[in-house]
Amino acid sequence: MNNVPPLDLSQQYALIGEEVSPAILKVLASGRYIGGPAVASFEQSFANYIGVSQCVSCNSGTDSLYLTLRALQIGPGDEVITSPFTFVATAEMISAVGATPVFVDIDPGTFNLDLAQLASAITHKTRAIMPVHLFGQPVNMTQLMAIASSHNLVVIEDCAQSTGAEWDGQKVGSIGHVGCFSFFPTKNLGACGDGGAVTTNDPAIAAAVRMLKEHGQSTRYLSEARGINSRLDAMQATILEIKLRHLDAWNDRRRAVADRYHELLSPIPSIALPQTLPSGKSVWNQYTIRLKSQDKITSPAPNFRDSVRNKLQEKGIGSMVYYPFPLHLQPVYKSLGYQPGSFPVAEQAGCEVLSLPMFPELDGDQQDRVVYGLKDCLTEMQKFGE
Ligand SMILES: *Cc1c(COP(=O)(O)O)cnc(C)c1O
Repeated sequence: MNNVPPLDLSQQYALIGEEVSPAILKVLASGRYIGGPAVASFEQSFANYIGVSQCVSCNSGTDSLYLTLRALQIGPGDEVITSPFTFVATAEMISAVGATPVFVDIDPGTFNLDLAQLASAITHKTRAIMPVHLFGQPVNMTQLMAIASSHNLVVIEDCAQSTGAEWDGQKVGSIGHVGCFSFFPTKNLGACGDGGAVTTNDPAIAAAVRMLKEHGQSTRYLSEARGINSRLDAMQATILEIKLRHLDAWNDRRRAVADRYHELLSPIPSIALPQTLPSGKSVWNQYTIRLKSQDKITSPAPNFRDSVRNKLQEKGIGSMVYYPFPLHLQPVYKSLGYQPGSFPVAEQAGCEVLSLPMFPELDGDQQDRVVYGLKDCLTEMQKFGE
């Protein structure tokens, strides 16, 4: 029997290869590899898709966060509130501009910021809130925007895992002041290399991002600010433009896969399923369950979740752990003074999460194998008292 991979990008290429290959050859023959019409056209299409007036492309999701923070002139002395349960780039870029990340614990069902605890983290130094729509699931933006506006804070949405997700009928990346996107190959809209974008309805922010990503130049060879070089190239823009036309269908397929996991896994008592909010439309970048245990973040590896994952691997079923160590306990953030116990929900999630195979082409048989494999692992472990 074939193995079930956690993700298989080759199947997507097989589906669109006939569209992509000639388009890439055209770019190669055109001689325009950086900038030019392909990049401008994708920026326009992506702005239309998200529902904003401005889109500035860049080299990565990481750069989109960095450029946004710089454009908003957030820096030393400023605090930015974000989640401790995310990919490190979110907090890393807050630090990169000289500001301080301030973490707030997450909600155990959605893995997103616990908005009930948000207000208590706001100080006179807070400039912005950076919610992360983790695993494709939108944060409750109605509630978050209300808190932000009552404290005059900027909202920067980290949409790296949530291209196409909606809150209350609006696409994420169009609700806060700025949206930051990644086109890393494993994201819902992925390039065949690196890429990223900033979306906003504020032309001044867009102009500042564009200036900063071009060495601080809005007029060529006249640098107004200390910028960087961050480009989306013409080949990636061409691929993204083609893939964007398929994105809604792919996200629909991910929702169908998630619904089926939900149905098949809900009878198992030792598994907690990811929760969704009624106004949210998730795009399921990951389908992440929790294997409930008494393990602590300080417990030695392998913990219960790791053992299940290893057993699944033996059966040929791939899975991933996003994320084993919350950011407040990362060595790089030691100086912030957080301890084990500072954010108990994020820490428990770190011990218990397991992301199951999730991609639009995952078929029913593969999904059955994942579910039965998981059931077998859990039964075996119970029997041997592991
Ligand atoms: C992927 C990711 C990023 C960074 O994007 P890159 O394109 O890899 O630089 C930032 N934030 C989150 C939540 C991500 O998942």
